[in-house]
Order: sequence, then C-alpha cells, then structure tokens
Amino acid sequence: MTSHQIRQAFLDFFRSKEHLIVPSAPLVAKNDPTLMFNNSGMAQFKDFFLGNGTPPSRRIADTQKCLRVSGKHNDLEDVGFDTYHHTMFEMLGNWSFGDYFKKEAIAWAWELLTEVYKLPKDRLYVSVFEGDSKDGVPFDQEAWDLWKGIVGEDRIILGNKKDNFWEMGDTGPCGPCSEIHVDLRTPAEVAEVSGKSLVNNDHPQVVEIWNLVFMQFERKADGSLIPLPSTHVDTGMGFERLCMAIQQKTSNYDTDVFQNTIQVLETLSGKKYGQNDEPFADIAMRVISDHIRAVSFAITDGQLPSNVKAGYVIRRILRRAVRYGYSYLGFQEPFFHKLVPVLAEQFKDVFTELKDQEEFVTRVILEEEKSFLRTLESGLKRLDVVMSGLKENGINTIPGDEVFELSDTFGFPVDLTALIAREKSFQIDETGFQDALAEQKKRSRQDAAKEATDWIELREYDGVEFLGYDFEETHSHIVKYRKVKTKTGEEYHIVLDRTPFYAEMGGQVGDTGELVLGTKEEGGRRIAIVDTKKENDLFVHISRDKDLDSALQEAGIITAKIDIDRRNKIKSNHTATHLMLSSMREVLGTHVSQKGSFLNDEVLRFDFAHFSKVTDEELKKIEDRVNEKIRENIALDERRNVPIQQALDAGATATFGEKYGDFVRLIIFDPKFSFELCGGTHVPSTGEIGVFKFISEGSVSAGVRRVEAVTGEKALELMRQQEETLNKIKDLLKGPTDLVKAVESLIEERSSLQKKIAALENEKIQALKTALVENMETHSTFNLIVQKVDVPSADSLKQLSYELRDQIENLIAVFGTEISGKPQLSVFIAENIVAETGLNAGKIVKDLAKEIRGGGGGQPFFATAGGSDASGLDTALEKAKTLF
Ligand code: ATP
Ligand code: MG
Repeated sequence: MTSHQIRQAFLDFFRSKEHLIVPSAPLVAKNDPTLMFNNSGMAQFKDFFLGNGTPPSRRIADTQKCLRVSGKHNDLEDVGFDTYHHTMFEMLGNWSFGDYFKKEAIAWAWELLTEVYKLPKDRLYVSVFEGDSKDGVPFDQEAWDLWKGIVGEDRIILGNKKDNFWEMGDTGPCGPCSEIHVDLRTPAEVAEVSGKSLVNNDHPQVVEIWNLVFMQFERKADGSLIPLPSTHVDTGMGFERLCMAIQQKTSNYDTDVFQNTIQVLETLSGKKYGQNDEPFADIAMRVISDHIRAVSFAITDGQLPSNVKAGYVIRRILRRAVRYGYSYLGFQEPFFHKLVPVLAEQFKDVFTELKDQEEFVTRVILEEEKSFLRTLESGLKRLDVVMSGLKENGINTIPGDEVFELSDTFGFPVDLTALIAREKSFQIDETGFQDALAEQKKRSRQDAAKEATDWIELREYDGVEFLGYDFEETHSHIVKYRKVKTKTGEEYHIVLDRTPFYAEMGGQVGDTGELVLGTKEEGGRRIAIVDTKKENDLFVHISRDKDLDSALQEAGIITAKIDIDRRNKIKSNHTATHLMLSSMREVLGTHVSQKGSFLNDEVLRFDFAHFSKVTDEELKKIEDRVNEKIRENIALDERRNVPIQQALDAGATATFGEKYGDFVRLIIFDPKFSFELCGGTHVPSTGEIGVFKFISEGSVSAGVRRVEAVTGEKALELMRQQEETLNKIKDLLKGPTDLVKAVESLIEERSSLQKKIAALENEKIQALKTALVENMETHSTFNLIVQKVDVPSADSLKQLSYELRDQIENLIAVFGTEISGKPQLSVFIAENIVAETGLNAGKIVKDLAKEIRGGGGGQPFFATAGGSDASGLDTALEKAKTLF
C-alpha cells in the first residue's frame, strides 16, 4: 500500500463506522494560551472535552498535522538521530464525544490494523494501565478484559502512570490509555529476544504506533480526580510509523513518505543515503527531509520565521536543517528551499494549502537560508578570534558564556561550536554553557509566570452566546471566574453566559467596558473590564479591580456594557482593512494575501505577501481607491452561518492558516469589491470611516511587507499635526510665500557657510603649523614638537600631525588641546623611528592620558586619547618632553 492509500483507508474505515471526517486544523495553534503549535489530534477538539462547545458529530476522524518541538512534547533533539520521531508528523485519530467507549475503540483499532492493513497479529503488543495508588485510580480491568478477548494474555503489558495515563495538562480531562506497539525486527532477531521485553524501551524497530485514550476523569488544581459526567475516546496513530509497519521497512525514512525528498537531496549533494562512511551524513539527510516539512507547513499556516516565540521556534528548526546540510552534506549555498516543490507535489491532494503558496514558501525559506549562511560565516569568524585569543593565553577550552553568547546572539548552534572547536583541538565548557542556558530559561520562566486558580463555577450554562454584532449592552449572568496572578498583579477572569464584548481574534483587539451588577435600571457596583480574550471558545473578560470574589459570587443579573466609542473606532479600522486589501489586490496584484493583521482604536497594521517595496505612487493609488469606496458609502452586507464551501465557491477571500468552522460569516462591501470570511466587527456603511490615510510602509521579513494606516478622527488629528508643524516652520522662517524655496535656500546657505568655515579653519592650521615648526626642538636623531594648541576639532590633531610629517623628517609630535572643555592628546612618531627604536605611540598616549584621567590608543606611529580633567593637560605635555 502507498502512503496515500494507507491514509485513505483509515478515513474510509472510520467513515464506515459512522464517523464524520473533518480537515486537519492548521499547524499553528490559535486562541490556546497553552499551545504554540497543535501537537496532537485532540488539540482542536479540546473545547468539546472541556464542555465549552458542542461537536458537529459525536464521532469524528481525521488526519492532523502535528508539531512536537516545544512545551510538553518536544522531540526535536531525537529527530534525525532516531528513525521514528519527527518534528512534524500526521496523527490519524478517531474520537468519541460522549458516544462509544473502550469496547468499540479497542475492537475497531484491532480490526483496522489486522484486517484492513493486514499487520501480522503475532507482531503486535498492547498495553493496559496498571493503576496508581497515589491517585486512587484502579487497574484498568475493563480494557484488560476487552483485550483478553482479542489477543493472548502474553501480548498484554501493564503500563505505569507515565506511559499509560494521559492528561490534557496540569488540570482538565484525563484517563487511562492503551497503546499498541509493533515489532518490525527480522525473524532471527525475534527468535533471539522476545518483542515483549523491548516494548517501551526505545528500540527503533519495536515502536508504539497507536494510543487509545479513555477519558473518564477530571484533574482539579489541588491534584484530586473526579469522574467526568460523560466519557470520551481520543486516539492518535502516528501515520509515518504506520506506513513503516505496513510497507515492511525498518525506518520511517525508508517509506514513500520521505523517499522523494531524500532522492532530491542525494542528487543535490552527490551522496547516497545509507551508504555514507561519515555517519552524520545520513543523520543530516533525515534531519533535512524531516525539517522541511515542519518549516514549510508552519509558514503555509501563517507562522513566519522570526526572532520571537513561535516564529523563533520555526527559525531554529530551519537553521538546524541548514546547519546539518552545511556541515555534513557540503552545502555552502542555499539548498533547503529547493525541497519545497517536492513536498507541495506530494501533498497536493491532502494539504492543498502548500501547493497554493509554493512560491511564497520557497522565497521565504530562501531568504532565511541566505541570512543564516551569512550568520554562520560571521559566527565562524568570531569563533576564530575567540580561539586565537585563548590560544595566546594557553587555554584550550571555550568558556560557557562565550558559547552561550554565540548561540544566543549570533544564532550559532552549540553543537556546531563544539564541532568546530574539536577540529581546532579545542573543547567547549559544556557545564558553563548549560548554566548560562539554565539562567536564561529561569529568567524567561519568571517573565512568563502565571498562576491560575481553578474556575469557580457559579451556574450551569450551555456555551457562551456572543451578541456583540448587534448589541453594545446586554443583560447576562456570571457563569464562572478565576483569579490569575501575573507579573504585573492579580487579574480576575470572568465568563458570562451572553456578552457583547468582542474577544481578541483575527487581529482585532478585545473590547473594554464594564460589568454593572444588577439590571440596566437598578445599576450597582461597576467592574471595569480592561480586555477580552478568547481561550479556545470561551470569552474571558479581564478585570484588574480588587477583591471581587464576593461581588461575583453574589451577583444575579448583570449588565455587560462595552466602551462604544472605542468599539466604533475599531470597527472603522477593521472595515478600512478590508477595503485596503481589495484595493491592494487591484493595484499590486492578486498575489497579495494577508500574513498578519492587528487593529485597535488607534491604528491598523497589516502584513502581506509582496516581494518589493510598495512605491509612493502605488500607496497613493491604494489610498485613493479606499477613500473612493468610503465616499460611495457602501452598506454592509453581513451574512451569518453560510456553509463554508458555498462561501469559497462564491469567491470569498479566506486567510491561510485560519481555522474556519463548517459555517462562516461573510462580510461584504459590494460583492464585486470586498468579499471576506471574517468574524470581526464592521461599520454599517463605509461612509462612517470618514477618511483613510497610510502612515508607513516597510519590510517585516523576506517576502512580507507591512503597512500602517489610520482612519477617521485619528487621520484628521494626524493631518492637523502635520499642518501645525508646517505653520510653525513658516513662522520660524517669517512667513515666506514659498516655503519649499525658503528651506532650500537655507540649506544652500548652510553648505556655503560650512565651506567657508572649513577654509578658515584650514588657514588657522597652516598658520599654527608655521609657528610650531619655528618652536621645534632639533635633536640628532629626531625633531620634537610638544605643544598645547588651539584647534577646532579632535580630527585637526591628526591633520596637523600628518601634514607636519610630510614637511619634517624624523618627527615626533605630541599635542594637547581642549575641545568643548574636554582634554585631548595625540602622539605622532615617524614610522622609521618606530621601526628603529620600537617606540610605540599607542603605549605612550595611554601613559600620558593618566594625567587627564582618560584613556586611548591607536597605532604605533599615531595614537590619540581623550580624558575628563583638562587641568592635567600641561602636566601631560611636560611629562611628554621627558620621554624622548
Ligand atoms: P513516543 O513515546 O514514541 O514518543 P508518545 O507517547 O509521545 O510516543 P503519543 O503522544 O501517544 O505518543 O502520540 C500518539 C502517536 O503519535 C504515537 O503512538 C506515535 O505513533 C505518534 N507519534 C508521537 N510522537 C511522534 C513523533 N515525534 N513523530 C512521529 N510520530 C509520533
Ligand atoms: Mg513522545
């Protein structure tokens, strides 16, 4: 079976068991403060398990793009070194939300593996949770009995809490699990050592392929477990490992999932995978063919490489790949981006988004590669300097903080530093490096530290109703709250059953406003809401007011009220963003797609794919077009709950990497002009925006530009400020009729004055020179001038010394001067004297500088020093006279 067929067979099998097949969520996690990237199939369904939403079906199956490179699951360091852990992999999964439980999950898993995929039964092992007395959870008898009806007892293994008890996080749903392992060794190997003894022992051919999780408990913040009201199934099977088992290979990389990429790498490098003397060459090929998937799909789903957070994780993966190619496959030039087309082709029917953005992804990776190769070069140079410095002092260990600095500031990977060090008979101070790293981690942990209590549930509710599209004020109830300690203080997180507050999403900031206890008419205590954020599907209202517990607990009906002024400005900026995107696509081309967006009540910021600077001319055209549409006063046409396919077929613009539900909301301002999938808030008609004005345009990263603009009042304010500035300038220039001409003539005048000053200064120096030559002391082997002089700048000392050198042989000249109260010294020694006597201007000036409380240096024939005590100048010069 090919990998395509294997994936399809999985989905078909569960469809036949009445599962709804859904698309993978984007790799990049949104609205989940605990996750940067989706790292398991269940991540996109969290809300259903937490009871914050209702699934579209009680049985679901899919293949999910997962990335395990940060947080709880981080396999990065193993990738390439072993043959079955990836950064990005596909997790095939089937779910029951309060529907079937252990019996069906176990029977179907077995049926699929042995009857559809025809994996040999005598090569499969299963595990069952042995129980944990500390948690008071018993042995999973039910799973044991079910498995015993299918396989021999000798194939069932008891597993401990670490391997066989799954938890969503520190708190939340959890339960025992059953894993299925497969033994892929040769018959001879099997005869020698039983597979059972190798399960969960890191053997590369005895690996876990499927994990069936049975959620039946909830973990509270105090560590206790309570039974869940309804039980769920969550399974995850590693697709690439499954392919290895079915295709009878001993490494994931030998399957058709990776072979295409590896073949291209062989052609590019001239090396054959599996036939290299240098063991790291094979590792490099695995690393690269793995990492290109993670990097390409992350960029496709909207996570560009950058210097912070998730972007930095992606940049590090990219650099790890490039680095392996550079060190072990001889790639000195960018190569990594050349693998994108291979992947785009391979996944064009599964994850079509990569094919759609093939060119963009390729260019982003190419630019990253180029800049990293430059970093590598400058890092190598720095390392050279460091090592030669150490060598001079007879040291052959590179200090830990230096290694850390190279990795942290220069992006220079530690293992590369170690490798190069080894080549030059150096070693690195590994412990020192680890200390520096731990220190930094500690700092960033402290920065991020947040401590939350359990949610305090106040009343039953059935999902949150968002009413903010239609109302600015609603009657609601508080359904739960919690307290969160952050670095800046304590916050209350409050959830309402219905709310007009928009929670930060799709670039639009969250609403602010207030909760008033009691009805609109009664009024009561007011609670200020400073922000509203989404946590999965929950709308979390954030308040920094103090001591709210009893008020929240006792509140009955409340009035939730947003700051409507602020919201109106936000709306203008959001609609303007839509009008702007359509105008950009008209003026710049349809390749312009959204790569990031942020808007609040003051400004709108928009990142988009485009490969050159947007010229002033183009900006003007876009601006004109947007303002034209504002004046047309187009009415908003908002459609809710449109089936997604219908919307896309009608030509609606969607953003890559956004996760859309089955039903979407459409925001239309003239169907022929602006037609977008959007959950944000918008003005009822474009005229309300007033006016639109760009304030900046620039580059964010390779292939991505950023513009900022303002609307309405803010735009007016900006224009007014500019007008005021102009008026001030006019006043300063005494109200000329032609302002530009007046400024031009000022500039001209200035430059001619500068020329005149330079000429005068030069005359002064020439006169000074004559006086100095007259006062020169003549000795047999040298001519000495030591003098305090009056010159316009420190540079003049150099000019003076150099001009005298051209005039006088065997010159030694020491000058002192004061520039704006600061003492300066210079020492010049003719080069032939330096060569003959070994005198050194640099050393002399340092010594003299002590008198003026300063320091300096330079070359053996000319050096300068600055200081802070001008009263010492004379002493310094007297001292100089005694030196020669
Ligand atoms: P392992 O112990 O092998 O790392 P795990 O316990 O981390 O696996 P789960 O979190 O249970 O794995 O994930 C479910 C399945 O996903 C596993 O059975 C395995 O087939 C697959 N899987 C997990 N991590 C990876 C990875 N880094 N690369 C490829 N497949 C993986
Ligand atoms: Mg793991």
